[in-house]
Amino acid sequence: MHHFEYRDGVLHAENVSVPDLVRQHGTPLYIYSAATLTRHFNAFDSAFDGLDHLTCYSVKANSNIAVLKLLAGLGAGMDIVSGGELYRALKAGVPPERIVYSGVGKRASEIGEALEAGILMFNVESVAELIKIDEVAGSMGKVARVSFRINPDVDPKTHPYISTGMKKNKFGLDIENSLAAYAMCADLANVEPVGMDCHIGSQLTSIAPFMEALDKLLDFHDRLKGMGIDIQYLDLGGGLGITYDEEEPPHPTEFGQALKDRLAGVPLKVILEPGRVIAGNAGILVTEVVYTKSSPARNFLIVDAAMNDLVRPSLYGSFHRIEEVVPMGRDSLTFDVVGPICESGDFLARERVLPAVEQGELLAVFSAGAYGFTMASNYNSRPRACELLVEGDKVTVARKRETYQDLVDKEL
Ligand SMILES: *Cc1c(COP(=O)(O)O)cnc(C)c1O
Repeated sequence: MHHFEYRDGVLHAENVSVPDLVRQHGTPLYIYSAATLTRHFNAFDSAFDGLDHLTCYSVKANSNIAVLKLLAGLGAGMDIVSGGELYRALKAGVPPERIVYSGVGKRASEIGEALEAGILMFNVESVAELIKIDEVAGSMGKVARVSFRINPDVDPKTHPYISTGMKKNKFGLDIENSLAAYAMCADLANVEPVGMDCHIGSQLTSIAPFMEALDKLLDFHDRLKGMGIDIQYLDLGGGLGITYDEEEPPHPTEFGQALKDRLAGVPLKVILEPGRVIAGNAGILVTEVVYTKSSPARNFLIVDAAMNDLVRPSLYGSFHRIEEVVPMGRDSLTFDVVGPICESGDFLARERVLPAVEQGELLAVFSAGAYGFTMASNYNSRPRACELLVEGDKVTVARKRETYQDLVDKEL
């Protein structure tokens, strides 16, 4: 059951026709499907039934409050990486005891905000951060629950910019330094080690790297027990991949079953931090063809969405499927689909075979629900796009399109 499908030759988002949405809200336009978000969250979360677990959606994938509220209503906790994301999660009604805080550069003010809120735990990424957390907690008369992000030195076999669990990456602590960090907690009055954590990368299309990391963490857990350190949480991060093109990532149930097999009898509560797998295929970006042009080397479709709206193709060379919103049955040609921004790196697709669409027609860019709007900018003074959340026949403006006034508001 797909929630972005063609009905009578017109792309729909759930029960609503996409051209109707564009007539009302313009382009570029992000459209999210509530039914898809719900289905993805429930499919993921239930894959771990039988394991004591908490699914903490990774806010940075899609942090719109409407999306966070929907997921919080389904029982999701949240994985945050900034004070801004904490603010959003709390605003969306997420109980603080379901929030975990990751990230290599938490500032003292952000640590204070998270302690004030009473989050479940900090995933600590350095000794310097541990000392800062102890200091801030002490000044507030609180004890901070911490877990250390362990870098298991596992190759997730994904794009280098989104692989995070290898020795050369900036994230976490290597195994030996992690042991020392746990030992250090005994000398700090305001931190309590409660868990261990890893997040090895994003868009993983096999479970083998997850299991390799898990084995290293379980060995590590034995060493902690040997030191008399007793923890309760095992946070395995996010990273499960999705289908953008031809990828065949494992279904969450396959991951769930592998975890259940490996963790039988291990008395740890498992935390999972999925982002992309929940939101990625729950959103599309709709754009209008502004001009077409051909040079001796290329055919171009110049569209009104650009790298400032969806940076993944420019940043990672990512593939996003692109289709006509109303297929016209024309012959295909090879196109570069490019935006109006003054950068040769501004493209949504290169050398893509597409029907020969014409000026004024609409294209849908699929799999744009994660790391789409959240990575958007105002480069070239382009107001950021409108975001809609569709639920059956109901359309909610989840975020208004920015205006020119918004662009300069903080400057005057
Ligand atoms: C980005 C991130 C995630 C989510 O990754 P996905 O690939 O979107 O599932 C989870 N945990 C941490 C610490 C992250 O930085």
